[in-house]
Amino acid sequence: MSHHNIHIHPSVDNGLQPGSDSFTGGKLYCQCTDNKVEVTVDTQCAHNHVCGCTKCWKPEGALFSMVAVVPRDKLRVTANEDKLNVVDASAAIQRHACRECGVHMYGRIENTEHPFHGLDFIHVELSDTQGWAPPEFAAFVSSIIESGTNPDEMGAVRARLRELGLEPYDCLSPPLMDAIATHTAKAKGAL
Ligand SMILES: [Zn+2]
Ligand SMILES: [Zn+2]
Repeated sequence: MSHHNIHIHPSVDNGLQPGSDSFTGGKLYCQCTDNKVEVTVDTQCAHNHVCGCTKCWKPEGALFSMVAVVPRDKLRVTANEDKLNVVDASAAIQRHACRECGVHMYGRIENTEHPFHGLDFIHVELSDTQGWAPPEFAAFVSSIIESGTNPDEMGAVRARLRELGLEPYDCLSPPLMDAIATHTAKAKGAL
């Protein structure tokens, strides 16, 4: 049984595009017609995934966002930075969004104790360059119910994610959950 009627995200709905091994980054643009915010990323992304949480920016009609990380020192805002605004200053991830089109250009963690401090969150679909590493898994899948998905559809959503090769998790993937727990254990002196 196929589940092609389920729109996970436009970048994955027709199958995953492989990344390029020689890829060294590209520019991200907001969706304004002019004076676009431009972010330059000087590296390949890591841990790309689709995310079902209610905080990540997602395109119209998509059930999931698509989000990856890069080291913060590899990311620069290179045009129209004055249009950026932090969506929720109290959130762990400070999502810098264009105040005109609403697109989130990057998310940054300022708390140095946070397990993912030093990594910025980006949406590589905002780039016009090919070769970004494709998503590897689906995070916070059950959270799409909080955005209005009927719980009865979750079986079909998870089946579609598996069909695309995106293993569904209701938090993060095991390697990322292990990284968080390791960080916490080291901070407590248990490791
Ligand atoms: Zn914009
Ligand atoms: Zn998310």
